[in-house]
Amino acid sequence: MELENERKAVVRFGLKMVESGLTTGTGGNLSIIDRKSGTVAVSPSGIEYAVLQPRDVVLTDMQGNVIDGEARPSSELGFHLSLYGQRKDIQAIVHTHSPYAVTMACLGWEIPAVHYLVGFAGKKVPLAPYATFGTPELAQIVAEYIGDYNALLLANHGLVAVGSSMDTAFAAAEEIEFVARIYYQTKSIGNPVILPDEEMNTVLEKFKTYGQKKMGIGK
Ligand code: 13P
Ligand code: ZN
Repeated sequence: MELENERKAVVRFGLKMVESGLTTGTGGNLSIIDRKSGTVAVSPSGIEYAVLQPRDVVLTDMQGNVIDGEARPSSELGFHLSLYGQRKDIQAIVHTHSPYAVTMACLGWEIPAVHYLVGFAGKKVPLAPYATFGTPELAQIVAEYIGDYNALLLANHGLVAVGSSMDTAFAAAEEIEFVARIYYQTKSIGNPVILPDEEMNTVLEKFKTYGQKKMGIGK
């Protein structure tokens, strides 16, 4: 099977997305790009993650033409492709409907540096304006608003996280959900203290060498 490892990773992380509470039902989607061939392995539209098989993961080219797979690709293939075109540094995309991030997105709020882990996205998590799911308009907006950030809130919809690997993109989606929850909780009972810009510069520098390998996170 072509791009077997990538297809298996889409299945594995799709299941993890549901198990971690980052989405419900068939919400959200994921993809990995093979930059050498320009082939994208994307989750199919509207299939429960629990029953997803590697062969259900659709392979497309950068124009969205299906190369391999019986299923219809995700309705958000458009923004996956526009992100891969816009950000040559990324290899994977995770789109979630995680509840606290969505809460912020439905308030029309960005997420500021309320906790240093916002660094998984950058100095903040920006917000893209609303457009209907699965439309070329949303694809264009997402590519326009991602900038150098590694996560972006979609107004009245969800979160998109990108990374140099599926591990990195998934970690960004997970950590930003944590930061969104902390922001919600602090706003509920008081006034959160926001980290200054200079401190976030320091954090983003430290992230480059955190852990066992270079993470290359955020700007
Ligand atoms: P798909 O099942 O088509 O990927 O759509 C889910 C979604 O989150 C749309 O924004
Ligand atoms: Zn969605």
